[in-house]
Amino acid sequence: MAVDQQSARPRVLVLGGGFAGVGAARALKKADVDVVVVDKHDYHTFQPLLYQVATALLEPAEVGHPLRDLFDDQKNARVHVDSVTSIDLAGREVQFADMKPMSYDYLVVGLGAEVNFFGASGAPEHAFPMYTLADAVRLKTHVLEKWEAADKDDSLAEDGGLHIVVVGGGPTGVESAGALAELYNNTFAEDYPDVSKEHAKITLVEASPQLFGMFKEKLREYTKKTLEEYGVDVLLGEIVESVEPTRVRLKSGKVLEAHTLVWGAGLTASPIGRDLGVELQRGNRVAAEADLSLAGHPEVFPVGDIAWITDTKTDEVLPQLGSVALQAGEQAGENIARLVAGKETKPFAYHDKGTMATIGRGAAVVQLAGGRTMKGEPAFLAWGAVHLALLSTGEDRAKTIVNWTWSGFTHERAARISVEA
Ligand SMILES: Cc1cc2nc3c(=O)[nH]c(=O)nc-3n(C[C@H](O)[C@H](O)[C@H](O)COP(=O)(O)OP(=O)(O)OC[C@H]3O[C@@H](n4cnc5c(N)ncnc54)[C@H](O)[C@@H]3O)c2cc1C
Repeated sequence: MAVDQQSARPRVLVLGGGFAGVGAARALKKADVDVVVVDKHDYHTFQPLLYQVATALLEPAEVGHPLRDLFDDQKNARVHVDSVTSIDLAGREVQFADMKPMSYDYLVVGLGAEVNFFGASGAPEHAFPMYTLADAVRLKTHVLEKWEAADKDDSLAEDGGLHIVVVGGGPTGVESAGALAELYNNTFAEDYPDVSKEHAKITLVEASPQLFGMFKEKLREYTKKTLEEYGVDVLLGEIVESVEPTRVRLKSGKVLEAHTLVWGAGLTASPIGRDLGVELQRGNRVAAEADLSLAGHPEVFPVGDIAWITDTKTDEVLPQLGSVALQAGEQAGENIARLVAGKETKPFAYHDKGTMATIGRGAAVVQLAGGRTMKGEPAFLAWGAVHLALLSTGEDRAKTIVNWTWSGFTHERAARISVEA
């Protein structure tokens, strides 16, 4: 069917092919509807493993999966690649950069979030965010180029060419800092025997007095100790004021000589959320009702990172996590199927498998819903199992397991090559 043609069945337009959008579209597989998924990329990104692409442990194709492939067994679904530019709620229509506007009977808004530099000057131009696959590949290439340059000219390392500052003491920042330290200690130490390692270092900067604020104290202490054992300098209570190509200035007046700044500090929901006409919550998120619909618009479902979702079991606002986005997307899809079948929608209750994050190989922290905690190797295995289950296909899982196992034995990072586009 052509992009602008509509059959007699209701059309469910799904904006975004992330965890939320894919979850919603798949849940509609057996419903008597036409599902149209639109994303600005032709692939679904598995964000939790982006840092492994940035540190050459995984190939881009292992964390980005072709969107069309995810729906090739779903006869009622079509995928289009385009950017959503605005939503007309009253006219039940969505505008795109290239395609003609498309009308809908039901709308799933799963456009995710974007990086937030919190006004740090120079950050949009010079920082390396960790939010998209392109970001991860760009960081990897940049770091490889710096080491190659230092191999030719030792004075570059003295000027901070091999010093990486990572901003953010949450999962993105900690995982990135830990993985970069392992790359430096295990791989580059051997790859570049003639480069002086004295100035090759990783510094983690966090504004609050602690890392991993969402975890219990003993897990926070373990995290800091583990990073320090890897050689990471942890600076707490420090705020990045400005970023220049070769220097990072902190509000305290400290200047870090570093040619690379990785930004893993904050998010703001997709700006398209403003079109939904409701007052935005913290992080510009759009409040969803108990059944995940938009107040006053039972045909619209904001889900995933763009949404402010309250768990009906606990009354707590849920964090921006892949598992929340996937489960909420699936519930939105099921609720649309119920509406189409003339049934009532169901409220959303989150099945919490625990909060977890890695620090490095064999080092992770897990906090389960009941308050139980794990750290070290058992936590690392639990993290691996939960995240492999979130990967889109069996093929991705198999490739990832092979790479993880191989690098676990050998410290080998086969993806440490720069490819010119
Ligand atoms: C580095 C990192 C590490 C993370 N680690 C974990 C973790 O370990 N565990 C965990 O549970 N969660 C983790 N998360 C969070 C998790 O990835 C997100 O919560 C989840 O991806 C949100 O899903 P979503 O579908 O709402 O948004 P996304 O996955 O961001 O998908 C949004 C989609 O919308 C598309 N899009 C955006 N704007 C437009 C537009 N204008 N037009 C068309 N398409 C558009 C994007 O291309 C994207 O495909 C991590 C996130 C990051 C960034």
